[in-house]
Amino acid sequence: MKILVINAGSSSLKYQLIDLDHSSVIAKGICERIGIPGSMISYKSAKGDKYEKQQDMKNHEDAIAMVLEVLADPEIGVIKNMSEIDAVGHRVLHGGEKLYDPILIDDEVLKAIEDCIPLGPLHNPANLMGIRGCMAVMPGVPMVAVFDTGWGMAMEKSHYMYALPYEAYENYKVRRYGFHGTSHRYVTGRALELLGNPNAKVITCHLGNGSSVSCSKAGKCVDTSMGLTPLEGLPMGTRCGDMDPAIVTYLMERLNLDKKGIDNYLNKKSGVLGISGVSSDFRDLEEAANNGNERAQLALDTFCYKVKKYIGAYAAALGGVDAIVFTAGVGENDRGVREKVLSGLEYLGVDVDFDFNNSCPRGEEVEISKPTSRVKVFVIPTDEEMMIARDTAALTAK
Ligand code: AMP
Repeated sequence: MKILVINAGSSSLKYQLIDLDHSSVIAKGICERIGIPGSMISYKSAKGDKYEKQQDMKNHEDAIAMVLEVLADPEIGVIKNMSEIDAVGHRVLHGGEKLYDPILIDDEVLKAIEDCIPLGPLHNPANLMGIRGCMAVMPGVPMVAVFDTGWGMAMEKSHYMYALPYEAYENYKVRRYGFHGTSHRYVTGRALELLGNPNAKVITCHLGNGSSVSCSKAGKCVDTSMGLTPLEGLPMGTRCGDMDPAIVTYLMERLNLDKKGIDNYLNKKSGVLGISGVSSDFRDLEEAANNGNERAQLALDTFCYKVKKYIGAYAAALGGVDAIVFTAGVGENDRGVREKVLSGLEYLGVDVDFDFNNSCPRGEEVEISKPTSRVKVFVIPTDEEMMIARDTAALTAK
């Protein structure tokens, strides 16, 4: 079965064609600057063919048409024609309280995704453009929506409520939803398989440009660090994460910021970039810190302390932990961050082989805890696209 997985942003569209029979990526790429002068498509196939072309793309429909053209190109393509694509899986950010499990897209689902735009004002409109573009160019091909918020919907009410007047929840759906759901679900599933225990208690640390920690029992989310929006939780590349909510009005007054201004301040100028003044990229931070930059070191220390704090909190929430998983750009690659987060957790039963942590291969699933460690620690490369492809196949195979 061949599944096209689409992750549409407002001016970009990432795509992967996945052969589920072999669990492999046949081709992938990105369309950029959609609707902006200088639009561009890039493409890479598993056979090693590469392609980059500047081509006008007025909208997402044009972008999908370009994707199909290159996938079926007689020289560098990987399919003969569009009919080889069995279904399309779309990543959708916010499903609100009504949409959580992967679902076959019809008019009612499109309307429900539209209704969630106030909760995901940047992403949901872009996701819809991707879906509608695909529907226009691929009529009759089944489409499935997979929600980033789906994982967090298993949380108990007492775990997702904010202590605000109840009307904020009832009337405006203000509650914790959580994000990175497909990633947490994928790596949790892998951890349960590696442990050989489907009922295990697992803490997953998705540390990338956006970061979140989640915890689960028997593959069901118990808690997750992001909230109504992806701003809550850990400090991130440029997002502030948890803070005293009174800071919002205090800084609006001191810095004379309006709604848009404070939104930009907390989402784009904060996080490890804000603390360090160096970069949002952990590679730059590690380099600067190694060269004696104290604020870069402070940003790394603040980040790691917060991840550790969430692990402790989630171990308490779960009543113990069987495995801790690191994933995403920082979690998979930054050995220094892993070491700092994991040191001092012996009281929890975590016994890490720090030499191996420093030398283990990148891009592979590895166990970095000692064989005798009560809590297993894994590095598991995330694969949200494969998860979306599997969800899509499960709904459309019949
Ligand atoms: P993601 O959002 O999962 O794509 O992660 C992107 C982030 O991963 C980048 O911004 C970097 O901060 C981080 N990253 C990628 N490679 C490395 C590396 N070798 N060492 C440290 N951080 C890395």
